[in-house]
Amino acid sequence: MGLIVQKYGGSSVADGERVKNVANRVTECYNAGNSVVVVVSAQGDTTDDLIAKAMELNENPSKREMDILMSSGEQISMSLLAIAIERLGFPVVSLTGWQAGVETTSAAGNARIKKIDTERLKRELDKKKIVIVAGFQGIDKYDNITTLGRGGSDTSAVALAAALHADKCEIYTDVDGVYTADPRIVKTAKKLDAITYDEMLELASLGANVLHNRSVEMAKKYNVKLEVKSSFERIDGTIVKAAIDVEKMLIRGVTRDNDVAKIALIGLADEPGVAFRVFSLLAKEGINVDVILQSIGRSNTKDISFTVTKGNMKRALEILEANKSELGANEIVHNDEMSKVSIVGAGMASNAGVASTMFEALFDAGINIHMISTSEIKVSVLIDQKDAEKAVIAIHDKFGI
Ligand code: ADP
Ligand code: ASP
Ligand code: MG
Repeated sequence: MGLIVQKYGGSSVADGERVKNVANRVTECYNAGNSVVVVVSAQGDTTDDLIAKAMELNENPSKREMDILMSSGEQISMSLLAIAIERLGFPVVSLTGWQAGVETTSAAGNARIKKIDTERLKRELDKKKIVIVAGFQGIDKYDNITTLGRGGSDTSAVALAAALHADKCEIYTDVDGVYTADPRIVKTAKKLDAITYDEMLELASLGANVLHNRSVEMAKKYNVKLEVKSSFERIDGTIVKAAIDVEKMLIRGVTRDNDVAKIALIGLADEPGVAFRVFSLLAKEGINVDVILQSIGRSNTKDISFTVTKGNMKRALEILEANKSELGANEIVHNDEMSKVSIVGAGMASNAGVASTMFEALFDAGINIHMISTSEIKVSVLIDQKDAEKAVIAIHDKFGI
């Protein structure tokens, strides 16, 4: 018995039958004597459909209006689930993000949760109600509805679990746990019984969208006990926690991130201050840069290539084109058909051969590497998007995980 936060993703509430399935699971947990808070995502592809509808009307809508539009998907799910639970005869109430006290920053489309005022939630729980909360959304200090970035319902769930000091946060999804690679790409991927917050954070940040990376960050910060499990099958999932007993695996997983675009500035002057000028222009616009590569200067010129998210590419190019002569660039080229493939594992820090094994796997598969970046617990390569799935499979096979 305790307080459990459960989160059900879009595919888990995609239609009436699935909402009924979730209603059954939620009420079972409640019947076992627990207080239950449930976070839901929008049904199936609703969020994508809403975005597409907006784009038909205006290719450049304001982020504020997009947030209002996108948040409506979760509002549909929360009320449908509450209605299904009412039918089963249980006390239930559904709350939007703002009704549940979720206060966020004002960064529309990518807001961060600042705090959760739990007063209303606690009041409803004290009345022994099952509380359903719309994921992915909150409200800023100007009373604007905000959203937390794609996949953000996981973060809503973990934040609620932290704020309510829940005993556990269960993330129900369409796979039965966290795997060594996306099981839809790598058929031989293995389910992990447990994974550390740090490794999960790295996997999530590098494209394993089974958990929103900020949800992992938050779970680590507040020590929330997290489990990723199937909403369809009744089997143990993957526990995400601070430390795990098993020996550190060399490689914990392989990921792919297709949200990558590359920009290259050709023929820059080979003199101090050039990189500073380029990246400060982008930083001023809030454009994050990921992998950076600078060529060796030859005949007094050098090239700088870097990656940004696809959504930021257009703006980054506009800024750089507007400053092209000031920067002294001969040419600015771009490619948004790129993918970043990474290996992650806390065990690799002390093992020199890991990167070369990864490169060998790519060589064997005939895949060209455009850029490389490494840290203590990951190695990433930038390759053509068309090769990404083949690369993930080849690397996964090579490490035999
Ligand atoms: P939800 O709608 O429940 O939030 P998501 O689609 O966001 O579900 O996340 C689940 C998906 O994450 C799975 O269907 C799977 O294809 C993908 N995925 C990517 N990497 C992994 C991984 N390493 N382990 C498990 N699933 C992964
Ligand atoms: N519905 C939102 C999305 O599709 C949030 C989520 O699913 O977590 O990104
Ligand atoms: Mg998700």
